[in-house]
Amino acid sequence: MNYWTRNNPVSLLVAEGNLWPHCRRLSQLAELPETHQILRQTCRDYADRELSPIASRLDKEHSYPLKQVYPNLGAMGIMAIEVPEELGGAGMDYLAYSVAMEEISRGCASTGVVVSVNNSLYIGPILKFGTEEQKKEWITPFTTGEKVGCFALSEPGNGSDAGAASTMAHQEGEEWVLNGTKAWITNSWDASATVVFATTDKKLKHKGISAFLIPMPHPGLSLGKKEDKLGIKASSTANIILEDCRIPLSNMLGPRGAGFKIAMQTLDSGRIGIASQALGIAQASLDCAADYAHKRNAFGAPIGRLQAIQAIQILGGMGYVTDMPAERHYRDARITEIYEGTSEIQRLVIAGQILKEYKQ
Ligand SMILES: Cc1cc2nc3c(=O)[nH]c(=O)nc-3n(C[C@H](O)[C@H](O)[C@H](O)COP(=O)(O)OP(=O)(O)OC[C@H]3O[C@@H](n4cnc5c(N)ncnc54)[C@H](O)[C@@H]3O)c2cc1C
Repeated sequence: MNYWTRNNPVSLLVAEGNLWPHCRRLSQLAELPETHQILRQTCRDYADRELSPIASRLDKEHSYPLKQVYPNLGAMGIMAIEVPEELGGAGMDYLAYSVAMEEISRGCASTGVVVSVNNSLYIGPILKFGTEEQKKEWITPFTTGEKVGCFALSEPGNGSDAGAASTMAHQEGEEWVLNGTKAWITNSWDASATVVFATTDKKLKHKGISAFLIPMPHPGLSLGKKEDKLGIKASSTANIILEDCRIPLSNMLGPRGAGFKIAMQTLDSGRIGIASQALGIAQASLDCAADYAHKRNAFGAPIGRLQAIQAIQILGGMGYVTDMPAERHYRDARITEIYEGTSEIQRLVIAGQILKEYKQ
């Protein structure tokens, strides 16, 4: 045991043989910095006041309140949390992003995914790999909530195996010309720009993929039908179809052939947002179930004393109808096991990382 493992608070408590009474002390040690606590309270108040009351209607109507909700979130800094203030963002960190995602998703999971895609999938790679000109042009207008962006990696023939992209880009004079179909693209019907991945050198396989920036709408770019989904219904999802879609050479993001690396690094950060979204949905389910369990009696006792299990089960029949939010939370939660990498792929990534660390 080195000094740190011997003396860190967890080791000391484990050595004392009883961790549980110290949980409060541990949670205090893990307390958020003051700025993050203020952010959490601000997002929680906004979600309770503005999102929870409309979430059911947005879900039923599949409506996307671009003009209503997102400018408010933009004014709060939530649409561009990690973006430096000089570019119009909140200038905060990934912990702040995670805190905001949890609270916003607790109010409305669809709003959560729109916020997540704008922050980490669209703005994220431009902030990391864009030139100064690209950052000004493609990030700043997307910090206010008036415009949102999207991220087009998946294709009808390959989702998990993103390196097998069949969308092609070739150079003609001063332009890139893109052809192919991108599938399942969140925000696509509402977006003003997209980061797109396309192959510039097929023989190099995943090392031949490059990233591009395309404004929306744009000649040669069209949208497929809006998918009718199980959950997160108030976010739009559709194919993006590229047919001789021409963009200037300067719209390449990062070096030629760096697209796969850009996509994977973007997903690494994006997954923090999706995990936080899942936590927010779980918290909303718990709130709903705990409240119901206190109020509902069966066999002369509050049901909270009889069982502790899934929110839907706690609500009984009321868990199965749309009058109560539990069934929406149940549907919304399911996507967090699929997008930005299915759970199976995440396990492969985590296992690969652990094995790499052991090898080192
Ligand atoms: C609502 C929604 C929004 C989305 N938003 C976006 C977006 O904004 N941008 C974007 O680019 N994409 C988006 N996607 C696509 C999403 O990322 C893919 O659906 C996901 O990566 C899975 O790909 P797939 O659907 O092609 O499934 P497949 O890759 O065909 O996988 C099918 C099944 O096989 C399993 N599988 C595959 N390979 C392996 C393996 N090696 N080992 C074990 N199991 C394996 C998978 O885990 C899964 O269970 C979205 C999808 C949905 C449904």
